[in-house]
Amino acid sequence: METKQPVLKVENLKTYFNLGDDKVAKAVDGVSFHIDEGETLALVGESGSGKSITSLSIMQLIPSPPGEIIDGSISLSGKNLLDLSEKEMVHVRGNEMGMIFQEPMTSLNPVFTIGNQIAEPLMKHKKMKKKEALKEAINLLKLVGFPRAEQIVNEYPHQLSGGMRQRVMIAMAMSCNPKLLIADEPTTALDVTIQQQILDLMIDVKKKYGSSILLITHDLGVVAEVADRVVVMYGGQIVEEASVYNLFTEPKHPYTVGLLESMP
Ligand code: ADP
Ligand code: MG
Repeated sequence: METKQPVLKVENLKTYFNLGDDKVAKAVDGVSFHIDEGETLALVGESGSGKSITSLSIMQLIPSPPGEIIDGSISLSGKNLLDLSEKEMVHVRGNEMGMIFQEPMTSLNPVFTIGNQIAEPLMKHKKMKKKEALKEAINLLKLVGFPRAEQIVNEYPHQLSGGMRQRVMIAMAMSCNPKLLIADEPTTALDVTIQQQILDLMIDVKKKYGSSILLITHDLGVVAEVADRVVVMYGGQIVEEASVYNLFTEPKHPYTVGLLESMP
C-alpha cells in the first residue's frame, strides 16, 4: 500500500543564535518530527526550550541575524522550504500556512480596520477584488463566532477584546485554507473562560477544514483536549514523543513526569 506523505516533515533542524564572543545559543538543536494530514501535534516544553524558534524556523521568520538555520530540512507536502527563495516563501506563508501567535495585538495592525486586514491577504494571494474580499471577511468572521460581523469589519483592533482579536487572527489564519496551521501559545494571554472558547473554535476549524495543526503550548490541559500526538522539547531537543494517551499514562522522560505532576 502507498504510504501517505506527511504534511510537515522536519529533519535534524538546528537553529542557532550567534551571541558574539564565539558564544552560540543552540535554540533548536537537531529536532526531527512530522505531522500527518489532519493531525494535531502538540509541541510542549518549558519556557526557553525552543518551541517558538522551531515554529519560526518552519515559517522562516527567525530574527536573523543573529538567528540562523544551520542544518536540516523542513518539507511541507514534500517541498523543501529551505530551498525556496524569500519570494517563494512569502507565497507559501500566504497560501499554505496559517499562523496564530500568543498576543494578537502585536500581529494585527492598529491602523487598519479588521475588514481591511482580513481582505488584504485575500486580495494578494487569492486575487480577489476588494468588494469580494470584504464579503469573504464577513463570512470568515461569522465562522469564528462574530454574529455582528458586518459591524466588526469596520472596527479597529483596539476596539476589540483580547479574545475577539484572537478570533480575528484565527479567521485570518484560515482565510487561505492552509495545509498547516501553526499556533504558538494561542490561548496563553487570554482569560480562562475565553481560552475555552478559542480551543473550541480551533477544534471546529480543524473539523471543517481538515487542517493539520502544530500547536505550541505549555498547558497540558490544552494538549489533552485538542492534540493527537505530543512532542516534548527540553533544551532545544526532543526528549519524548508519544500519543496523548501514552504521554499521560506512561510518561518516560523525567521532565515530562514533572510536567504531569505539576498539572492542577
Ligand atoms: P520557547 O518558545 O520554548 O519558550 P524559544 O524558542 O523562544 O523558547 O527560545 C529558545 C532559546 O533560543 C532561548 O532559550 C534562547 O536561548 C534562544 N533565543 C531565542 N530568541 C533569541 C534571540 N533573539 N537572540 C538570542 N537567542 C535567542
Ligand atoms: Mg515561545
